[in-house]
Amino acid sequence: MPPSPEEQVQFLLKVQRLLGEGLFSATYKYALLMALADLSVEIGDDSGSSLDIDAERIAEKFIEYYWRQTLPFLGSVVLRQNAGKAPVVVRLLLQIRNKYGDSLASAQRDSIAWRALARQIAANIRAMPLRYLQNVGRERIPFLYDPPQGIAPKTIRLYPGVAFCLRRFHGLIAELVQAGWTKWVRQQNLSFIGESADLHEFLFGATRATLLPLQVPLRELQRNLCFYCQKPLRQADVDHFVPWALYPLDLGHNFVLAHKECNSAKRDLLASEEHLSTWVERNRSHGEELGNEFDRLGVIHNLGSTTRIAHWAYSSASVASGLTWQARETLVPLRGEWLMLLH
Ligand SMILES: [Zn+2]
Repeated sequence: MPPSPEEQVQFLLKVQRLLGEGLFSATYKYALLMALADLSVEIGDDSGSSLDIDAERIAEKFIEYYWRQTLPFLGSVVLRQNAGKAPVVVRLLLQIRNKYGDSLASAQRDSIAWRALARQIAANIRAMPLRYLQNVGRERIPFLYDPPQGIAPKTIRLYPGVAFCLRRFHGLIAELVQAGWTKWVRQQNLSFIGESADLHEFLFGATRATLLPLQVPLRELQRNLCFYCQKPLRQADVDHFVPWALYPLDLGHNFVLAHKECNSAKRDLLASEEHLSTWVERNRSHGEELGNEFDRLGVIHNLGSTTRIAHWAYSSASVASGLTWQARETLVPLRGEWLMLLH
């Protein structure tokens, strides 16, 4: 059973308390809350039931978040993510990233080393943030999962209703977490980054530079036509089909090639069901061949996850009676076809 509206409000109030009053000696708690929300989207559903989450899955999310954050800021210094010495995940990533030429996809492909890294980080997450996340001041507010007595188990079970709320309010929670995380990092690094630098973009913005190599295979597949308006392309943008602002989905199959004009008219909106149908069909017919291209280019991909995240995005828009983008200034409501397309 999904939680009642009253229970959903209570849940949000607790998230707000956690972020507002919790003591944060490092950015780990932000990362953990973000990981629980993201994984609820990626592996949970809207039934309201409990959800088991593996600490190693959480660790992989940590690697994803901190990978970009351990690049030198403005080319000079790696930002502090802890009041004391650098947290384990930061130290481990700094040790290994050179080996993979800064490419997360290459690191993932080295599967034995990747698993060992995830295991090591998972152990750290079980000993620290999973244990303390729900402590607010001297109080404990267990509303996400049973707080472990000592080191957390390898798999935690989110209480019934939690995955539902984390999915339903993902956008809101992501904004709260990112704002808190950014503020924390700014305060800890104030001496050299100052007030003005665009820290939020560095920590959480879309990674546009890595999208350039995708131009060639996408252009070929789309026969040099814009994905949305089907007119010939000259200069083109690689577009996140499920918008980055809705979910930071950088997996290969989420990308399409479009006119700059079409891309900017679409903004942060979901594409209409007509476009969705084209996208689903493209991934069905050419998903595998695209996957091989992505491997060659060092772009991470997982068609299953991509489709699940798209399902969540359209389902959220449908619940909110949101409009989708068709062309230029034209927005259209959902008619329910997405449910068939993304089953
Ligand atoms: Zn176009």
